[in-house]
Amino acid sequence: MGTVSNLSMLPARIIAKIRIDEKTGCWLWIGYIEKGGYGRGTQVPDSKGRRGRTCLAHRLVWELLVGPIPVGMVLDHRCRVRLCVNPAHLEPVTLAENSRRIRSVGLPNVNGLCRTGKHPWIPANIYIAPSGVMQCRCCRAERQRRVGSAGKYRKARTGPGQAPLL
Ligand SMILES: [Zn+2]
Ligand SMILES: [Zn+2]
Repeated sequence: MGTVSNLSMLPARIIAKIRIDEKTGCWLWIGYIEKGGYGRGTQVPDSKGRRGRTCLAHRLVWELLVGPIPVGMVLDHRCRVRLCVNPAHLEPVTLAENSRRIRSVGLPNVNGLCRTGKHPWIPANIYIAPSGVMQCRCCRAERQRRVGSAGKYRKARTGPGQAPLL
């Protein structure tokens, strides 16, 4: 894919924060990771020697290897791995497009599993409700089995968001 030669074009201190996943081709950021699961890196000082600012690692790598990200655009992770900084796995899209995609494909946990951590968060296992909300199909099936078979489960847990499963 030629991605490894690209990687070598990065400053050494950034390369040191990247581990390549040989199976997926993802460049996994092993530096600081913020709450949302995205990597964070400190930008190298610019040509005028100004101190680098902290920014999202995948944006930083994109700007170093590809070029400036147009204003109003965000980088969409096509591999759905938020820690991945491989420009080949990223695509600049508008914010609106990005949130549309998030609604249709969903953000996995860092480990690519559903919210319970029991099932893979992959398109084949994602159910999209008419409202656009995504649910894990396996969890949904388990939930429906519980609700269907045991009335006591329903009694024990009634609250907003639990109600209309039918
Ligand atoms: Zn990737
Ligand atoms: Zn699940």
